[in-house]
Amino acid sequence: MPRSEFLPFSPPYLSEKEIEAVAAVLRTDWLSSGPKTKEFENTFKTMTGAHAALALNSATAGLHLAMVLHKVGPDTEVITTPMTFCATANVVEHVRGNVVLADIDPETLLIDPKEIEKRMTKRTRVILPVHYAGHPADMDAINALAKSGGAFVVEDAAHCMASKVGERWIGAGDNLTMFSFYANKNLTTGEGGMMTGPEALVDEARMLALHGMSRGAYNRFAKGGTWKYDVPVPGYKYNLTDIASAIGLVQLSRWEELAARRLKIVEVYEKAFKGHKHLVPLKTRAGFTTCHHLYVIQLNLDTLTIDRDQFIEQLAERNIGASVHYRPIHMNSYYAKKYGWTPESFPNSARAFERMLSLPLSSRMTETEAGDVVEAVEDICVKFKR
Ligand SMILES: *Cc1c(COP(=O)(O)O)cnc(C)c1O
Repeated sequence: MPRSEFLPFSPPYLSEKEIEAVAAVLRTDWLSSGPKTKEFENTFKTMTGAHAALALNSATAGLHLAMVLHKVGPDTEVITTPMTFCATANVVEHVRGNVVLADIDPETLLIDPKEIEKRMTKRTRVILPVHYAGHPADMDAINALAKSGGAFVVEDAAHCMASKVGERWIGAGDNLTMFSFYANKNLTTGEGGMMTGPEALVDEARMLALHGMSRGAYNRFAKGGTWKYDVPVPGYKYNLTDIASAIGLVQLSRWEELAARRLKIVEVYEKAFKGHKHLVPLKTRAGFTTCHHLYVIQLNLDTLTIDRDQFIEQLAERNIGASVHYRPIHMNSYYAKKYGWTPESFPNSARAFERMLSLPLSSRMTETEAGDVVEAVEDICVKFKR
């Protein structure tokens, strides 16, 4: 039976606890960054084993700060993946740096270290891998390349709340690492982000994130604080509010429940799609733990009479929401024009883009709903098989 109600792609999963926590903050005097934000940072730091953590109003803000801190500018290059959200590349443009793309592994859709190596020059300032879909990039290889080339590594962990390389959490290393709490991410605060990394760099980021002032509001207006401050650099306005942090703290306390529910949905999909004739799920590698941010499949277009866009339309007709992650960076008009890229410049990304879609996945979904998705996918494959 097709669904009678639309199944959204990835709605947030909030409980009464988050709602109560926000109401409690509204009854205090601290709406902006204050005690809740401090607590959110400390809890996140403890959970991931990070050296230091800084709450920000988005992951994009954190990526921008990382570019500023690592002095990316006109004569420098940042190597990143075409298969990412535009923000990853946009921040390089914001500081007038140059985006250099390294193509992906066609099975994992993660940036390929061999492609990075080919593109390293004296101007390479930062390597910026993305832990695509929640699966960690090959950090040992990437860290080694950066070290040999005198470059920094900045990790875009927007998908990657609670993923591990071996026994180490993403965010616990020496690279500046950015997490996102945007509405559809694994853990949400509506809008928000977290930077982790070495203490000295995160301290500098803290100042830049609040106008470049030497003292935050909490240190100026709380008891024992002082109004005095200096502005040694013109900074930005990237701090997270206590309202958002209160949501984040509850989401962190529910983390195991959220992750377990997500895993159940993934298991339904894995069972149904293993060895499938018409589609290929994303490959994950041994030794890495993924947080399953996205469930991405690639269609075997040779075995179907419809293309990817039509497949998504067919899902919508069956009341299933789907999405595509992502239109590769080089296929967006700004980047194509500035750098003279064609789709074939990064063939693995272009090929994956043509056949990829992301099926509904969230902690809110039930296994019955996952079963509906499987049924719709099978129905479409039968109807449109070549
Ligand atoms: C969501 C996302 C971002 C941006 O996160 P915001 O918190 O919305 O700024 C950056 N990179 C990737 C890969 C993302 O998915």
